[in-house]
Amino acid sequence: MSLPPEVRMAHQNRSLFTQLLCCFRPSSNHRHDSIIHSEQNGVHTPQKIPGKYLLPTVKKSDRICMVIDLDETLVHSSFKPISNADFIVPVEIEGSIHQVYVLKRPHVDEFLQRMGQLFECVLFTASLAKYADPVVDLLDKKSIFKSRLFRESCAFYQGNYVKDLSRLGRDLNRVIIVDNSPASYIFHPDNAVPVSSWFDDTSDTELKDLIPFLEKLSKVESVYSVLDGLKQIKLISPIYNQQKQNQTTPNNTTNTTQTP
Ligand SMILES: [Mg+2]
Repeated sequence: MSLPPEVRMAHQNRSLFTQLLCCFRPSSNHRHDSIIHSEQNGVHTPQKIPGKYLLPTVKKSDRICMVIDLDETLVHSSFKPISNADFIVPVEIEGSIHQVYVLKRPHVDEFLQRMGQLFECVLFTASLAKYADPVVDLLDKKSIFKSRLFRESCAFYQGNYVKDLSRLGRDLNRVIIVDNSPASYIFHPDNAVPVSSWFDDTSDTELKDLIPFLEKLSKVESVYSVLDGLKQIKLISPIYNQQKQNQTTPNNTTNTTQTP
């Protein structure tokens, strides 16, 4: 029995997004070319690759490095046409051009401008560059991101693309990651500034609300002193509490992107 056209279209769209975006888990026969983490008897064993850092060398970094996620942190993208898209990005998939409709999270411009003044900002997404690069070209007109890292820079671990901060080539005392997915920073949870997943809520103020906290964080010697303490007394809540709740909710997955 053939599937109704709308169901076939939904499956096709989901398949395309699986290839493109980070938020869908790859299929079981997926192969990843840049595995640098292996599991032996269930134990995570990072493999050091001397001299192969993801970021260019800096003489002396006086700024803390802020790793910023893209999808559901700064924007939300979909194949579903929407009239109020901030960007429409053509992406080639399997020989065909598909339009990706991108919504900017409220206050993202203000957030990025301020972060660019305070931090060495690095865009790090598990999505493919052929989608993410043109989106960031449109999002970051002022070149706030000093580097861009895509899926090939992630480690593939337990079904998720993980952003291994130890490969950046920066002192981990001076690295933070702003990301909606706890799975992305599972190797370095103490470096994380969790944010909630954003899809289309026009009243969302989370990026704007984070600015005062991040202004203070930009001035510390070690990010751990602040992030550890704040988690203990839950001053990042409700953001932090929401993330913890998501992590402990049964059947929770990182697949939070709505199927277009
Ligand atoms: Mg994300």
